[in-house]
Amino acid sequence: MYTTSTPVIVVGAGPVGLATALLLRARGLAATVLEAAAETAPRPGSRAIFLHRQSLATLAAADPVLGAELVGNGLVWGARRTSFAGRDVHHRAYIPLPADRAPFSSLPQPVMEELLRAACRRAGVELCWETPVTGVTTSPDGVQVRTPDTVFGAAYAVGCDGARSAVRRAIGVRLHGPRSPHAFLVLDLADDAAHPLPRERAFHYRDPRMAGRNVLTVPFRGGLRVDVQCRPDDDPDVLGGAAADWLPALLPDGHACSVTWSSHYRFQQVVADRLTDAYGRVLLAGEAGHLFAPFGARGLNSGIADAAAATAAVATGDVAGYARARHRAAVLNRGAAGRALTHLTAPTPWHRAAQRLAAAAAPRSGRAGRWLDSAPYGPRDAGIPGSRY
Ligand SMILES: Cc1cc2nc3c(=O)[nH]c(=O)nc-3n(C[C@H](O)[C@H](O)[C@H](O)COP(=O)(O)OP(=O)(O)OC[C@H]3O[C@@H](n4cnc5c(N)ncnc54)[C@H](O)[C@@H]3O)c2cc1C
Repeated sequence: MYTTSTPVIVVGAGPVGLATALLLRARGLAATVLEAAAETAPRPGSRAIFLHRQSLATLAAADPVLGAELVGNGLVWGARRTSFAGRDVHHRAYIPLPADRAPFSSLPQPVMEELLRAACRRAGVELCWETPVTGVTTSPDGVQVRTPDTVFGAAYAVGCDGARSAVRRAIGVRLHGPRSPHAFLVLDLADDAAHPLPRERAFHYRDPRMAGRNVLTVPFRGGLRVDVQCRPDDDPDVLGGAAADWLPALLPDGHACSVTWSSHYRFQQVVADRLTDAYGRVLLAGEAGHLFAPFGARGLNSGIADAAAATAAVATGDVAGYARARHRAAVLNRGAAGRALTHLTAPTPWHRAAQRLAAAAAPRSGRAGRWLDSAPYGPRDAGIPGSRY
């Protein structure tokens, strides 16, 4: 067994681990990333597409080239539309802004990760592929991170190893919270140049083209995300397998309907009971510490806020402050995503009646239309000082 030592180990080369390593380098700190998968392993699709301005600014401050690439490789959809049972209840178009003031960027997560990897290489991050972490031991002086061949000694380790985090398990931390009772089917479709889609995000309550299911469509650079809320009696595998039968009704006539990725989820709404170990030597960030339903795009965006706070904590030694502030943020983010999820699943007759009444009032009441338009994404502000996430 080989032993080596380094100031900070980052576990996981997902987007949060890569962002953490990059932000460490921007502070002049060395960073070594240990990733279980091979460098060429395919990354899962149907995950994040929406990077908020705050995340773009955090990453651009560390590497302006990366900031420009994330905007240049994404798109800003120019309008949002909400419909209810076949009738439009809200539409809003935005005035286009120059790239340096982009309010967000919509691009597939594998493309974000490719750009982050390139930025890490430019910054001199040491990336160790096919290096799964199998154990972590902490003491008041530091942390030992074990892989099959090597024990890495470090002052700190940041666990960014995702939902099934080995780091989280090793420090005896658990996730707590509910899981959505409804399944959601998420498809990514490739653009069809001959049949371009409107560049607008559209949410359709009780869409008659989908036998009354809720349907969200979000454009990203190179394609379209289609998110269908399954009914309790749906088998999402069967619904996904029959996509060729129902997709054409949602798209312009003749669209190729080419599905590049299909997944289904029951979204977890869970937060770790703490984001550090007993000695303040391990910090959990991103999905190692929390998982939210994606409505409101709080997953990766809050992971990047974690990464920024974790690197500041490693630089100052205030790990307890990190754990407190980001745990509170995770609880608030979960609450905000939970409000969106409750609105979407409308669990009581009261919720369903409120949506029906708002849809009936929308032609006369802008307020009713705006509520139907914004509620599926949760509150804009989760109440976290200085951060939207
Ligand atoms: C349908 C859907 C839509 C979403 N949309 C958005 C959105 O628009 N905006 C947004 O902000 N978020 C969104 N999210 C959430 C976003 O995808 C996640 O928050 C994000 O991927 C979390 O990144 P991460 O780096 O924490 O974890 P991961 O992406 O899971 O990366 C973890 C990494 O750790 C590695 N690893 C695991 N175990 C080990 C080990 N033992 N040793 C070493 N390495 C290990 C894994 O191989 C992986 O590379 C969405 C999620 C879903 C499901």
